[in-house]
Amino acid sequence: MKRVTIIGAGWAGLSAAVHAVQAGWQVRLLEAAPQAGGRARRVVHQGLNLDNGQHILIGAYRDTLALMRTVGVETDAQLCRMPLTLRFPDGQGLRLPDWPAPLNVLAGIATARGWSWSDKGAFIRRALQWQTQRFECATHMTVEDLCAGLPQPVMDGMIEPLCVSALNLPSSQASAQVFLRVLQDALLGGSGSSDMLIPLCDLSALLPDAAVPWLRQHGAEVLTGQHVQDVKEHLSSPVILACPAWEAARLTQAIHPAWSAQAHALKHTAIATIYIQSNARLTWPHPVMALPSHAQAPAQFVFDKGRLSGEQNLLGVIAAVVSASGSDRDAITQAVLQQVRDQLHLPHAQSMLTVLEKRAAFACTPGLLRPPAIVTSQLLACGDYIDGPYPSTLEGAVISGKHAVNLLEAMYMRENTA
Ligand SMILES: Cc1cc2nc3c(=O)[nH]c(=O)nc-3n(C[C@H](O)[C@H](O)[C@H](O)COP(=O)(O)OP(=O)(O)OC[C@H]3O[C@@H](n4cnc5c(N)ncnc54)[C@H](O)[C@@H]3O)c2cc1C
Repeated sequence: MKRVTIIGAGWAGLSAAVHAVQAGWQVRLLEAAPQAGGRARRVVHQGLNLDNGQHILIGAYRDTLALMRTVGVETDAQLCRMPLTLRFPDGQGLRLPDWPAPLNVLAGIATARGWSWSDKGAFIRRALQWQTQRFECATHMTVEDLCAGLPQPVMDGMIEPLCVSALNLPSSQASAQVFLRVLQDALLGGSGSSDMLIPLCDLSALLPDAAVPWLRQHGAEVLTGQHVQDVKEHLSSPVILACPAWEAARLTQAIHPAWSAQAHALKHTAIATIYIQSNARLTWPHPVMALPSHAQAPAQFVFDKGRLSGEQNLLGVIAAVVSASGSDRDAITQAVLQQVRDQLHLPHAQSMLTVLEKRAAFACTPGLLRPPAIVTSQLLACGDYIDGPYPSTLEGAVISGKHAVNLLEAMYMRENTA
């Protein structure tokens, strides 16, 4: 019997567990928290099903969508699919039509509101240049370097919102190489890749609530409330570490100090989700809207939770997202509340709950060296921070879980044919 222990049941650990079961492994999945899901999970507040942080997926998340379907989630019913939309409250901004790529991008740029023809031409010329260079650039470049010379409306209306939502860093700090990879997959990844997929249910219902029973039905052991203190106790058979970077660093300190140091060196950035009761009927054209943001008005996006969930008790509830946020919860809450009152004309809005994840994403800076998936011949690692093409995302986590199982299989085959 091929046995593997997986430590951590976030989306990377769940992905590893499902792929390992499919490859014929006897899986033991150990999770420290009372529930699976990690950073992408349900949070219940005063009887309302909210999330640890508002998430958005895109059509290019092929592995994540495939994983959901494997465990029985009806992705079409649980995700609101809409063409990429970066519209602001005054109606300015971008919305791609529901056409095949790259026509949708060209038409979306041509009809962008608030951009002059010269802005549109500048962006199209630059995008063609990126395509000619196969979406590759020097590793030391920031997104700001990459976009130098692009007009301000293009930066404010497209590059900055995309950069901060995908890499959780402003363009002045974010890796151009990773940004280009995200753009390439979204814009040229085939039909529907650039679509926004917004959860209609909470994040636990989107994967963990279906994955855990699926795993048990397929013979896996899933234990919650199991905070692993020492990996060595589990190393009688292979282990996959699927905990966050800082915890993986602690657990590998005595086993592989250099790997541990690399994981420990990663820096993290925060995301705040401020849930607000608008005390009004929301009549936005789309369930998600971009907001003009700056230090005193820090939220970049707002979501209409009532419209998305269809639940009566979430009517009028807004989730406002501050990517790359500061760490003062009260200051963020007050600033965002005022921003929502002013920019969305909701004078009676009241804050309900602020979820501040101080280590939401690893800082995806230029030239960043991320730890590899192989720690030792018996110990592998997966998670959004493991070396790979994506920033901290669900897709990055899910792909790394699958990759760890592929490596595990290869190691097993080598050992058993040697
Ligand atoms: C607020 C917020 C907003 C986000 N928005 C988006 C978004 O819009 N789109 C997107 O794609 N991504 C988004 N992300 C990123 C995404 O959530 C993460 O990339 C992904 O969830 C990481 O999954 P993971 O499995 O690698 O790690 P985690 O989710 O951190 O899972 C690790 C698991 O390991 C467990 N664990 C830790 N230590 C131990 C131990 N010693 N023993 C046993 N178990 C242990 C933890 O409890 C946890 O369940 C967002 C993240 C946050 C926080």
